[in-house]
Amino acid sequence: MIDNYLPIFNIEKQKMKKKNIEGNLSRLLNDVKQEKLYIRSETFSDSMWTKAIQYFYKINPNFNSDKEFSVGIDCNQCGTCVKVCPRDNIKIDELKPVYGGNCEFCLSCINLCPQKAIRLRKESNPNARFMNENVTLKEIITAND
Ligand code: SF4
Ligand code: SF4
Repeated sequence: MIDNYLPIFNIEKQKMKKKNIEGNLSRLLNDVKQEKLYIRSETFSDSMWTKAIQYFYKINPNFNSDKEFSVGIDCNQCGTCVKVCPRDNIKIDELKPVYGGNCEFCLSCINLCPQKAIRLRKESNPNARFMNENVTLKEIITAND
């Protein structure tokens, strides 16, 4: 699976990963057909990671928020970011998109901006963006309607 969490992962490197889509889908389909029920038990390590991450967000409340985004001069006000946002968190003012503080950090606006005009304050590769080749932009926009 590609990890499109831009602050940490370089999408270009992620795209090179062997994904075994057919094999994984077939396994999932088989599990659904058999109506398998499985809930993985939490390990000690899971619990420690959860606590550490919760503490990190507590002391860095803006870490995964739209305060991390900036819109550059390449923006041509096409409005794609507005349409792909599942939270209706973006409005276009006279010059460029403005964020409203109701962000779930899905990163759709950044990944799908045709101009790559939206940047994160810190990211692994500002030129690398991801769009699932099996999903169209129109389908993403329609899903938000
Ligand atoms: S998608 Fe990119 S180019 Fe289009 S309005 Fe948003 S920031 Fe500007
Ligand atoms: S990251 Fe997602 S939720 Fe946040 S503003 Fe962009 S599209 Fe909307």
